Amino acid sequence: MNKQISELKVLVVEDSKVVLKGLCNYLERMGIAKPLTAETGLAAIEVYSRERPDIILLDAMLPDIEGFDVAQRIRAMERQDDWTAIIFLTSMSKDEDLAHGIAAGGDDYLMKPVSEVVLKSKIKAMQRLVEMQRKLVDTTHQLNAANKELQRLSTTDGLTGIANRRLFDELMSREWRRCLRAKKPMSLVMVDVDFFKLYNDTYGHQAGDACLKAVAAQMARSAPRASDVAARYGGEEFALILGNTEIDGAIWVANHIRQNIAELGLVHKKSSFGHVTVSCGVASLIPGEKMTPKALIAAADQALYLAKEKGRNRVEGDQIAFP
Ligand code: GH3
Ligand code: MG
Ligand code: MG
Ligand code: MG
Repeated sequence: MNKQISELKVLVVEDSKVVLKGLCNYLERMGIAKPLTAETGLAAIEVYSRERPDIILLDAMLPDIEGFDVAQRIRAMERQDDWTAIIFLTSMSKDEDLAHGIAAGGDDYLMKPVSEVVLKSKIKAMQRLVEMQRKLVDTTHQLNAANKELQRLSTTDGLTGIANRRLFDELMSREWRRCLRAKKPMSLVMVDVDFFKLYNDTYGHQAGDACLKAVAAQMARSAPRASDVAARYGGEEFALILGNTEIDGAIWVANHIRQNIAELGLVHKKSSFGHVTVSCGVASLIPGEKMTPKALIAAADQALYLAKEKGRNRVEGDQIAFP
């Protein structure tokens, strides 16, 4: 909402006490309750840093530092999203002085002696600019927050809250390149819920969803390193990317996941195990220039297929050997 004129913080910098008093009177008459004042450049900078006023009326000629230098220093002190309107008060009438003032960071100027009507109009105009700047900052913040949320939504699986397939693909490529450069091994664990169609058929789709959430939570818990990524690969299939990890380590992690999920003891009477279980396929390789991440995914998929064939609720996998 629009800031009332009485809420506007105005700083008047003027070494002549008479002029200072006159300007403050004008401001008070237009509703600005207590204008801040400074009689030297250094005092102005000090008041600015403490009060962060909306508008500064700045005398160009001050006893210590020139008004133009004060403006420059204030601009340098402005924080991101801060903006103070600076109006120079000048009795100089040369065009170059005006140019100098604007170059130093001024927004406008007033010729001395300042008339009450002109001052009032300038303050009103500056108030509008201050308002617009504030709205711009607000809008920018909202836009940034919305973009961040959009980014999060577009990379998160809606049901389970872990990375979705899109993010999986992206992070897989990233980890691949990293391990390629470092000549380090990377591993992939594919996890698929056993007899899940039967689970849905027996307990309903909602129970099925709850089961997937529980599995996803276990996956996320099993990826504690910053470079590990647990993702929902699709349907009731999950994936875990393990950077800088050899096959033995990856198989150990996969078994850990398999065991933890079995120990949840989610009843599944149509399963040959009596509770929800998963099968895991693991593959590992050192990325090479002529390979793509697809090779690793295909190998983990194949290992998963083998785990299913061998009876489910188990882990299969190997180091991929390339000629
Ligand atoms: P297998 O042991 O060989 O893996 O058998 P399966 O029944 O688990 O495999 P299948 O591929 O036949 O069935 C997968 C089921 O997963 C079928 C599908 O309806 C279910 N599914 C996929 N996505 C979701 C989901 O988001 N929510 C629920 N509740 N079910 C899902
Ligand atoms: Mg002066
Ligand atoms: Mg399945
Ligand atoms: Mg499946």
